[in-house]
Amino acid sequence: MTPNWNVHTKWAKRAGIDELVADVVNRFIDYGARYCIYDKKDLLYYDENERMVERQLKYFYRMDQEKKFSNENIYVKAYYIHHLLDFFTETRIDKKDIDLLFKQFLIEKVIIEFSDNNEIINFRKEIEEIFQLLKENKQELYDDLER
Ligand SMILES: [Zn+2]
Repeated sequence: MTPNWNVHTKWAKRAGIDELVADVVNRFIDYGARYCIYDKKDLLYYDENERMVERQLKYFYRMDQEKKFSNENIYVKAYYIHHLLDFFTETRIDKKDIDLLFKQFLIEKVIIEFSDNNEIINFRKEIEEIFQLLKENKQELYDDLER
C-alpha cells in the first residue's frame, strides 16, 4: 500500500522540490523503469544483484548531476521522500516512534551511499533534512497518511 500521489507531491514540495521533478521521480518509482533505467552503454555494467533501490538512487543522482538549474540533489531528495512515505504505510513499527521508524527505514528500505569510481557518495545531508522536516510537521504528516 502506498500513500496517494497528492501526499507524495505535497511533501516533496514542502521540501522545496519542484512539482515537475517530484512527478518524474514518483512515476519512475511506482511504475518502474526496470529495463530502461540506464542507457545502453551502462547495460554492460548492469549488475543483476544490485537492488532496485540502489539502481534508482544512482539514476536520480545522475539526473541531479546533469541538471543545470540547481546544485542541490533534488531528485535524490524526492527519491528518499517517496520511499519514506511508502515505508510509513508499510511498516508495522508504531508510527508515534518516529525516530525508530527513521532508523529502520535506513536499514530496511533504502541505501544511503554508494561508491562511484572509488569515491563514496553519501546522502546523509539530504536524508537529515527530510527527517527534520517530517519530524517538525509530524501531526500534519500523520493526518495526510491517514486520509
Ligand atoms: Zn510508491
